[in-house]
Amino acid sequence: MHIGFIGLGNMGGPMVRNLLAAGHQLSIFDLFKPAVEALRSAGASSVDSITDLAQSDVELIITMLPAASHVKAVYLGEKGLLASIAPGIRLIDSSTIDPMSAREVASAAQQQGNPMLDAPVSGGTGGAEAGTLTFMVGGSVADFNTALPVLQTMGKNIVHCGAAGNGQVAKVANNMLLAISMIGVAEAMSLGVSLGMDPKTLAGVINTSSGRCWSSDTYNPYPGVINGAPAARGYSGGFGTDLMLKDLGLATDAAKQQKKPVILGAVAQQLYQTFSAQGHGALDFSAIIKMYTGED
Ligand code: NAD
Repeated sequence: MHIGFIGLGNMGGPMVRNLLAAGHQLSIFDLFKPAVEALRSAGASSVDSITDLAQSDVELIITMLPAASHVKAVYLGEKGLLASIAPGIRLIDSSTIDPMSAREVASAAQQQGNPMLDAPVSGGTGGAEAGTLTFMVGGSVADFNTALPVLQTMGKNIVHCGAAGNGQVAKVANNMLLAISMIGVAEAMSLGVSLGMDPKTLAGVINTSSGRCWSSDTYNPYPGVINGAPAARGYSGGFGTDLMLKDLGLATDAAKQQKKPVILGAVAQQLYQTFSAQGHGALDFSAIIKMYTGED
């Protein structure tokens, strides 16, 4: 299939490589030219503008952009995709944005005859490279089924979450819970260790008891508990604190619009905001345990 791809960063770059490896023809665009060049050497063709991509003979365009403002500019802007795209070309936005913006863009696309899915991912850059991402997909069942084979070349778990925007709903709800559970594990581990427990023994008890969760048994924030977790390598790599802070902002904004309390989500947002302001934005989000251990 001839696929267009916009947004060739940490996630989009490896996703394009997996599409190329699966035999697809790729036309790519990014404002950052070195990212384009790297993928041209891998076999993709580049176009000079979003308009050129919209007017090419692609059957599908995938976007992987930083935030809602970029997504709106790329789709709804004066020289954006919807200004010049032919009806029938399918659209998938895999950026993590708020559900309301996702619904606004999908509705504009549908109105001019371009089926659109929101399909944010989890799994990080490792999952993007390995082609094992989880895609949370919002849109019609028919559009989901059409997109499935392409999404399967980049991911392992492809979940239909309901109508347009619901992929983003699943993503913000999951990541808010992840932040809360990580802070909970950090708090419990640092309390237990300060009271004299060996961290590995404490994690072992938690992980065979009712406190067990992904943040405790797979991604434990206490150094030395899990080989291979970011805590074992100075919190480098993994899922950055600033990306978690962004997702918590999406969750609390969505909650405000719905007039729904997210009390723990708001506390988690404040903790990550404080941690980021202290200069730790680039560290993996499990480094939040430093707020409790007092380590620099
Ligand atoms: P990134 O900043 O590395 O890449 C974004 C790319 O979009 C950049 O290359 C940038 O030049 C390009 N871009 C921005 N505006 C553009 C425009 N108008 N036209 C063309 N290109 C434009 O970001 P990333 O880490 O790849 O993340 C992308 C999305 O995936 C974000 O929404 C992020 O929240 C989400 N996400 C990231 C991770 C992760 O671990 N990095 C995990 C899950 C989800």
